[in-house]
Amino acid sequence: MLQLFVSFWRSVLGVNETQAEAVVTGAGGTADSGPAGGANAGKAPIEIKRKDDSMNYVILGNGPTGVIAAETLRKADPGASIVMIGDESEPPYSRMAIPYFLIGNIEEKGTWLRKTPGHFDAHGIQNVVARAVGVDATGKTVTLDNGQQVAYDKLLIATGSHPLKLPVPGIDSPNVHTCWTLADARQIAAKAKKGARVLQIGAGFIGCIILEALATRGVKLTVVEMGDRMVPRMMTSGAGGMIRRWVEAKGVSVHCNARVESITPNGKELVAKLAGGEEVVADLIIASAGVKPNVAFLEGSGVEVATGVLVDERMRTNVGGIYAAGDVAEAVDFSTGKRLVNAIQPNAADQARVAALNMAGKGAVSQGTLAVNVLDTMGLISSSFGQWWGDPDGQTAEMMDEARGRYLSLQFKGDVLIGATSIGLTDHVGVLRGLIQSRTRLGKWKDYLMHDPTRIMEAYLATAQAQATEPILA
Ligand SMILES: Cc1cc2nc3c(=O)[nH]c(=O)nc-3n(C[C@H](O)[C@H](O)[C@H](O)COP(=O)(O)OP(=O)(O)OC[C@H]3O[C@@H](n4cnc5c(N)ncnc54)[C@H](O)[C@@H]3O)c2cc1C
Repeated sequence: MLQLFVSFWRSVLGVNETQAEAVVTGAGGTADSGPAGGANAGKAPIEIKRKDDSMNYVILGNGPTGVIAAETLRKADPGASIVMIGDESEPPYSRMAIPYFLIGNIEEKGTWLRKTPGHFDAHGIQNVVARAVGVDATGKTVTLDNGQQVAYDKLLIATGSHPLKLPVPGIDSPNVHTCWTLADARQIAAKAKKGARVLQIGAGFIGCIILEALATRGVKLTVVEMGDRMVPRMMTSGAGGMIRRWVEAKGVSVHCNARVESITPNGKELVAKLAGGEEVVADLIIASAGVKPNVAFLEGSGVEVATGVLVDERMRTNVGGIYAAGDVAEAVDFSTGKRLVNAIQPNAADQARVAALNMAGKGAVSQGTLAVNVLDTMGLISSSFGQWWGDPDGQTAEMMDEARGRYLSLQFKGDVLIGATSIGLTDHVGVLRGLIQSRTRLGKWKDYLMHDPTRIMEAYLATAQAQATEPILA
């Protein structure tokens, strides 16, 4: 399933194999010298290597955004000093690989973004383990958790996001975890043993992604979701309902429109009480109730924050010389033109490149962040793109063939496809994304698709592709 899913992502992202290794699995390069003592550790000053006569870039965060930005900067500005600061005591890794680690398809090293020993040193990128606790935009310095100040000429904020803590009594009990970091994954791997009763709170994007990993471990799974369906903020009601029935048929107990009100330890067990009185007894609870950008350290810096750090189409913040990208950034949405935090890895990779090129003075403009959500839920592959929920003045075409595991919903505004949700139609995802992103006018094909949405490939060939390959000379 891993290989299938990775190839599928390649088709969604429209990248070749080499690019996909960097973006999707993080393979191909590798982690540096490894942990350097942990955030907050030691409190000793860290030696920051830099040249006096070059541009001095500092990147906060060493997840996919930080790493891709650092490498893009290195290419764009070969003589520059680049310092990447991350607060996890791990070599830079991809959270996206955590489910594969939980399944047992890869070892920890498989989650590392770059695997060649000394990769970052070899590219003149200093990877520092420390936490940024403040930014002085006037003095152009970052304060670390050991009190040290690190000067920058240009700063990239790539600090990602963190899981929301549910306001539920008992949420801090032992054996209640989030599934966000490699450290979380180690805990879950140790506790989600065959036959263990696992309650997962939240059936959103991350919740659905880790379902397969948990099921593969042979646990007894119960899911509690506040929304009326699975992945309610990412898939239509038709698709969410189909995903629910799919996982139920595989033995998962799903409660939608439900809420955990309290968690009470009882010996080695945990008793979760749902609103309505029902109790779920579990050995392990995993809370996946959404994420929030890591912006607290920016307080008082003058950098504008709404939900995330507000950026323009060049990933610039309101403060000169400071940029933001990835899960922490709130950028212009391709579909609505409104600002949005789009916490997915393809977005992180695109924004990292745009930010780095602009930091290096090369100029690059983002087309806007496009919602591209792809899920493998216990073998059922679903995706949603763009304005998948539609437009009040638009039209919808929907097809469901549950017996064959197929579903397609198309959202139009005029004769333009603005959003789509699909299940099981893995061959069509590149086409859906392409039509949305190119804002192709479908003309009469829109009417055909209203009657039969599965003709989407024909529509693409007759419209978008025809335009793209029109002869230059008549
Ligand atoms: C289990 C799981 C599965 C996922 N699967 C998918 C998937 O299939 N597809 C997909 O598109 N996305 C997936 N994602 C989401 C994807 O991992 C994120 O979109 C991506 O990691 C964002 O990259 P980033 O570099 O912006 O943030 P992060 O990866 O979060 O990296 C930010 C880094 O900055 C560090 N940091 C935070 N604050 C500070 C500070 N003050 N000082 C220094 N360092 C700091 C953080 O600790 C972290 O190491 C998944 C996420 C999880 C948890």
